[in-house]
Amino acid sequence: MSTKQVYGILKTARLNLEQTSERLHLEEQMFKRLLEPKEKIEITLNPTLSSNKHMQVKAFIVRHRDALGPAKGGIRMSPNVTMDDIQGLSMEMTWKTALIGVPFGGGKSGICFDPSKITAEDKEIIIRSFTRGAMRHIGPEVYVPAPDMGTNETDMGHIRDCLAYSWGKSVTDGCYVTGKPVIIGGILGRKEATGRGVAYTIVAACEKLGLDIKKSRIAVQGFGNVGSIAAMVLSELGAKIIAVSDVTGGVIDEEGINIEHLMNFVKDCGQVYGYPSAKDCTNEDVLTCNCDILVPAATQSVITSDIANEIKAKLVAEGANSPTTPDADEILDKKKIFIIPDILCNSGGVFVSYLEYTQETQREQMTLEEVNSRLNNRIVSRFNDVYNYSKLNNLTMRQAAMDMAVSRVVEATYAMGALP
Ligand code: GLU
Repeated sequence: MSTKQVYGILKTARLNLEQTSERLHLEEQMFKRLLEPKEKIEITLNPTLSSNKHMQVKAFIVRHRDALGPAKGGIRMSPNVTMDDIQGLSMEMTWKTALIGVPFGGGKSGICFDPSKITAEDKEIIIRSFTRGAMRHIGPEVYVPAPDMGTNETDMGHIRDCLAYSWGKSVTDGCYVTGKPVIIGGILGRKEATGRGVAYTIVAACEKLGLDIKKSRIAVQGFGNVGSIAAMVLSELGAKIIAVSDVTGGVIDEEGINIEHLMNFVKDCGQVYGYPSAKDCTNEDVLTCNCDILVPAATQSVITSDIANEIKAKLVAEGANSPTTPDADEILDKKKIFIIPDILCNSGGVFVSYLEYTQETQREQMTLEEVNSRLNNRIVSRFNDVYNYSKLNNLTMRQAAMDMAVSRVVEATYAMGALP
């Protein structure tokens, strides 16, 4: 019988914090404070769908820490999402916002429903039902949601409308949600920001590792909002994308895949698998193929110890949240594979969410050039900080990123004093 551990997001997040806490010699009471979220809310929604069908849908909101500012983090909509997942993801958000240097804490929400199985009309009903149920917990000084897996800018538009409409106002008073459509207060480039940020950190890593981005062969696992944009930006920079996958399977071509063509194919057919100009393969083939750079940009815990043993890439850029299990992490480290950890690699989304948050108060629209250049400057400078810290202290990139992020949250917590 196998004694292999099964790692979920929460277990991985707690283990990462435990190790960080030991390295930083945190006081026991501080470690305990960071380990537990401030608030966990479970809501039962009872929407009536367009067919008149009554539904019962569970939803979760977790605010992990808010020492640096209001809780920030997306809404995950998936049939299997659990309170534990949301708790683990909210912890990740606390470190992510601290590391990229925006005045937010960590939060996350989840809606247990399969968004691929409903019409746009019914999704709107569920999103509005969630908004009404969660309204007391959302606000510019409390928790500011955004898109995550299974939700998008259309949903954020409905949230913004549902709030304003309930109050009889045309707009919300301040930023209640980010990732909205640009026409109603969203920011240019937010949709692409996470994928762009992933690409920018890869370019920065290539410089340090002496890899030529133009000669590099890249595999991208996950072709949603993050993976497809990262692949597009990297191919525009001259890299060869040799393998791509989504939930339906993958495609591989040593000569390089034309990402624009593949995007059009996916738009028409709804999936990567079956793309006629490349060879079909499995998701696992994409993760373990002979490439220089691997971008896991799909979901959590996909790089297990078995997969890690087979990975041939020199660089792994974590576009998804928590894609690598702790035992796989050790294997990758032993194999001297350079990792750009999730809390750094995919922080472009929340960074541009912060720009949207400031834009909304000022009622002034930033240009796409400004957004992209601020994103590039910030994420590359944070990448360099983490890289230098890791070299100076003989740590992995993940350890360095965690130490830097947790230290900031600890400092803010002490700065506020002991009162509850
Ligand atoms: N869901 C994204 C993340 O995991 C973005 C969160 C946000 O913009 O608040 O980082």
